[in-house]
Amino acid sequence: MSDTRIPRDFYQRPADEQQEFLENTWCNHCQQVDLGMDNPEEYELKGRVYIEGRCLACGATVTTELVEEDD
Ligand SMILES: [Zn+2]
Repeated sequence: MSDTRIPRDFYQRPADEQQEFLENTWCNHCQQVDLGMDNPEEYELKGRVYIEGRCLACGATVTTELVEEDD
């Protein structure tokens, strides 16, 4: 397994999905959910997909791990 981040294009996602990811966040710094984020960057790391952005309330980095279902 590599530690290299593989960039993905967040903006390839449907607009409603983008909106959902930007709104449904957990900020470790604020210790609050759903404060929202901007500057989203999507990447793959060790076979998992993450979206990283900036907390709208405090500006800290917020990371969301995506759970993708393959059926
Ligand atoms: Zn915050």
